[in-house]
Amino acid sequence: MAVRGNSIIKGIEVEEVIKLLNKAYADEWLAYYQYYIEAKVIKGIMKDAAIAELNQHATDELRHADLVANRILQLGGTPLLNPQEWFKETNCGYEEPKNFDVVALLEDSIKGEQCAISTYANIAEIVKDKDIVTYDIVSQILADEVEHEEDLQDLHDDITGFIESFRE
Ligand code: FE
Ligand code: FE
Ligand code: MG
Repeated sequence: MAVRGNSIIKGIEVEEVIKLLNKAYADEWLAYYQYYIEAKVIKGIMKDAAIAELNQHATDELRHADLVANRILQLGGTPLLNPQEWFKETNCGYEEPKNFDVVALLEDSIKGEQCAISTYANIAEIVKDKDIVTYDIVSQILADEVEHEEDLQDLHDDITGFIESFRE
């Protein structure tokens, strides 16, 4: 734990990195729950394919929360201890499922992934060349979020295309 006790890593405040990571940590738990509950309530055409994707993403978001929590601890910080703080700290918020239709739920989650991508791209930019370990972790997560967004978009386009084919 070479960094513990030092407040600065190559020109960046450790407290600042911990703060950014805790905000991302809040996002990950909310994203996890959003996927979890979407997979339960989803309705409509091709919903089985969507359920498989949503559950896979839920698992990934929980793994991201774990990666982020471990890095916060390594830096000498404490991951948010109270779920009430998730709503105060989140960048991307929580999109309560209102319309359970598969297309509407996929659209909610695509928005969430676009926000996650910009959050991690921003953290990567800030820590680049300064905190290499955090940079490495957020880059891995960023690659997953890009894949998530693409998977959801592909599924969304398949389903809307399928629906369109009945209208012709
Ligand atoms: Fe994530
Ligand atoms: Fe994601
Ligand atoms: Mg996927």
